[in-house]
Amino acid sequence: MSEVRPAVLVIAGSDSSGGAGLLRDVQTLSACNVDALCAITAVTSQTHQRVSGIEFISPSLVHQQITDAFATRHIDAVKIGMLGNAAIVQAVARALRNHSAIPVVLDPVILSSSGGELLDAAGLQALLDELLPLTTLVTPNLPELMRLTNEAEAQASLQQRAELLLQRGAQAVLVKGGHADGDESIDWLVTAGIATPLVGPRVPTQRRGTGCTLASAIAAQLAGGASLRLACAFAKQYVFNYLSAL
Ligand code: PLP
Repeated sequence: MSEVRPAVLVIAGSDSSGGAGLLRDVQTLSACNVDALCAITAVTSQTHQRVSGIEFISPSLVHQQITDAFATRHIDAVKIGMLGNAAIVQAVARALRNHSAIPVVLDPVILSSSGGELLDAAGLQALLDELLPLTTLVTPNLPELMRLTNEAEAQASLQQRAELLLQRGAQAVLVKGGHADGDESIDWLVTAGIATPLVGPRVPTQRRGTGCTLASAIAAQLAGGASLRLACAFAKQYVFNYLSAL
């Protein structure tokens, strides 16, 4: 009997530069020995310096891709990246509500590191209202955490802001420290009442797609049955190795 590898459904946009988005996700999943299925949300034309064009896939086709992926084979985890607008966020939420037992890792992509907006304001609100309640782990970097919790007081701590995302329905939050200073890169894994630091050496890099790589590596580990804590620790080491090898 042939061995069946775990499978992750990637819901994301493409990036013509290959630096981020769907291609980065699939490369990471392949390196983690996990199969990939996909639902493409948008096609973006980019270099590493600029976004020159974006076309969104219709929400009904996004919904259909997800439904057909689930009809194709057993899926062990879902990884979500760029969504673009509210109608696509709603289509994704509607399709995933039927599969609530499967771990969902949400990278809340708002801006491209090359400058363009990848989720509009209504999309951000829909993500908070409809997608967070379906999310096992949301993985904001510090600017994304600020955008997602702009209702918090200006002085609110990182952990208070992460708690707000838990109150909106996410089961866990991984706040990435990549945009902070210091020799160490500290990510915080926050679940109800518990904040665990994940510490690693900081690698100075302008490389795009590190958020995609981390979230995909976490999804790959969850698909293989790892705990959230071990999946996040493995993925942090994976990103360190990836960046160090460049
Ligand atoms: N998805 C697409 C299509 C992108 O262009 C980008 C950023 O440029 C991202 C996702 C987010 O990338 P990152 O992994 O750096 O957050």
